[in-house]
Amino acid sequence: KSAGGRPLSLRGIALSFGNVRAIDGLDLDVAPGRIHGLIGPNGSGKTTTLNVISGYYAAKGGTMKLGDDVLPPGMPALRARKGIARTFQTPRVIGEASVLQNVMIGGTIEGQATFVEAMLSLPRNRRDERMLAAKAQGMLGVVGLEALADIRADRLQHSELRFIEIARALMLDPDFLLLDEPAAGLSGDEIERLAGLIKAISARGTGVLLVEHHADLIFAICDEITVLNLGRILAAGTAAEIRTHKEVVSAYLGA
Ligand code: ADP
Repeated sequence: KSAGGRPLSLRGIALSFGNVRAIDGLDLDVAPGRIHGLIGPNGSGKTTTLNVISGYYAAKGGTMKLGDDVLPPGMPALRARKGIARTFQTPRVIGEASVLQNVMIGGTIEGQATFVEAMLSLPRNRRDERMLAAKAQGMLGVVGLEALADIRADRLQHSELRFIEIARALMLDPDFLLLDEPAAGLSGDEIERLAGLIKAISARGTGVLLVEHHADLIFAICDEITVLNLGRILAAGTAAEIRTHKEVVSAYLGA
């Protein structure tokens, strides 16, 4: 599996929680090397969509494909192996491990819950471990935090953790990267650095799905945007189309 190259497509994806139709027949396409923004008011189904694509929730209807590969519902570890990586709204790091170890864990996939599980999943073979460490150091360089490699993760600032999460996701050489509110809590300068990073990642052929409240960031870097409302698509198009879309402007952008 090489980084990039396969389109992600969702057709008729649905998921309810009790009587709430969180997403209701969603069609979505993200091409390799494109940045796709997913926006909409609170409760419109953005996080549910991201959880369905990454397999944390199992969709109850519809089909999802990565290239010609049909992805069975759920199965987050399988999806990660197939090249769908994600970050979380609240960064998930192991505080007592070093930054480098946290990034290395991204290359071992299975989403370990505890420090011990995560450390046990690292390669026992010295040579494999050195290769993984070198790759993790490279990914820290990609996000501009190589100097922090040996620091305990619980010493980091919130904004640094957001970038560490991206470095960890990149360890999978993903076809797709799902970013859940990556700009939350970042300063203006940090958001600019984030924008440059996301553009560089997509330029390598990775498709990016960006769930984000920060409208300036969305409009600055997205090739396409899908606007959700009550689990359905209110509008979809290029950033320029969405910015001037009447219903979107009145219902969501509040102008
Ligand atoms: P957004 O990310 O756009 O704010 P969500 O995907 O979180 O929207 O939520 C979509 C709808 O599904 C909302 O009505 C929300 O209350 C409901 N919902 C989301 N997650 C759950 C859950 N785990 N249990 C019950 N209802 C949920």
